[in-house]
Amino acid sequence: MYTGRSRCLKCGHEFTEENIFTGCPYCKTDKFVSNLTPLYELEKTDGSRKTYEKMFGGKRLESYLSVLPFKKKRRLVSLNEGNTPVTELTRIGSELGISLYAKDESRNPTWGHKDRLNAVLINKAIERKAPGVIYASTGNNGASGAAYAAKVGMPCIILTVKGVNPTLEIFMQAYGACVVGVKTVADRWKILKECVEKYNWYPATNYTIPIVGSNPWAIDGYKIIAHELYQQMEELPDKIVVPICYGDALFGIMKGFAELKQMGFIEKIPHMVAVEDYGPVTKAYESHSSIIEPVESWGSVASSMSTVYGTYHSLYTLNKTHGLAVSLENNQQINAAQKELACKEGLYCESASATTLAGVKKLMQMGKIKEGERVLLLITAAGVKDTKTTKEYVGEIPESETDMKMFSDVLKDHYGIDLA
Ligand SMILES: [Zn+2]
Repeated sequence: MYTGRSRCLKCGHEFTEENIFTGCPYCKTDKFVSNLTPLYELEKTDGSRKTYEKMFGGKRLESYLSVLPFKKKRRLVSLNEGNTPVTELTRIGSELGISLYAKDESRNPTWGHKDRLNAVLINKAIERKAPGVIYASTGNNGASGAAYAAKVGMPCIILTVKGVNPTLEIFMQAYGACVVGVKTVADRWKILKECVEKYNWYPATNYTIPIVGSNPWAIDGYKIIAHELYQQMEELPDKIVVPICYGDALFGIMKGFAELKQMGFIEKIPHMVAVEDYGPVTKAYESHSSIIEPVESWGSVASSMSTVYGTYHSLYTLNKTHGLAVSLENNQQINAAQKELACKEGLYCESASATTLAGVKKLMQMGKIKEGERVLLLITAAGVKDTKTTKEYVGEIPESETDMKMFSDVLKDHYGIDLA
């Protein structure tokens, strides 16, 4: 069970306060900050599936209560998130010479993996008797948070930068959240900080520089992905590939595996692989630095992961699992991967999710992922959230009169299909 304590990932200082959202004050500098992580008392087991079933069977959010940050047994609010499928991507996998799998988080209630975080967050906000939950978000996280807040009738404020993704703006509004456009990222963080520190609103997202990442208690919701993979796969993958922004899911999945190992259910933790568009964490990891400097941007279409900043918990995960990090160079790589997943595997995911395939291809070219390996992609959200980008490369739909000759020509010209 949760001990009520949390620990700094860098200096190890322990805390009993549950309102530290800006990282450990003891090792913080103007260039470095580490997030805290909740601590659990976990029993060593005989490691059998039967024991696992006894401890975690049920496949509901409450089934995992002993590894979630709640001190007492209690009912948890849920939208039936989780239990997302693992699918083998046989066509692309055989072309690459690897066993390729996708954990499809687009099957969650708001079509994305942020539901893992928000399921825990809303229950923690209720426990803390917060007047509401608050987000700085341009899309997925805000929409997910708004859905959970709606479910429990709690107010939800989302500070957004207008115009990044119009579909996701409507998505956030549809759940009845108080969505407010603020001109810059710095402005929205300033307001968020005041709402948290002065009015006790419960924050989901980062609001300081250096970037610390998301609410450390809510991040533990991602641990359930590790539990599901343990249940779904006879043998765990060698590598788990995650598109990262602040790397909350990357860290949470690793922590879930680390706890399964501590309890004796698994012997080793898969190597965690971080894919970025711009690459601040990749740069720090490759140079063995714990300081993550911001990098240059190039106008990535993967807006839900796009950042020039990185977090220490991303770096911590890579170091702990001897993982890999890779960054991309352009949008063509992302669009091509999105198209390939949709057209070869029937998996239409958003641009950020598609970076996982682009990253794997690059890592194979670099010799860091080898033929024969078992690789799992975390598909973080659905493609329907991101149709504007797709429209730019699929083009217009060709038209035809009711004339077979004309129809045949259109088919042949546009799609290379010959009816004759
Ligand atoms: Zn510290």
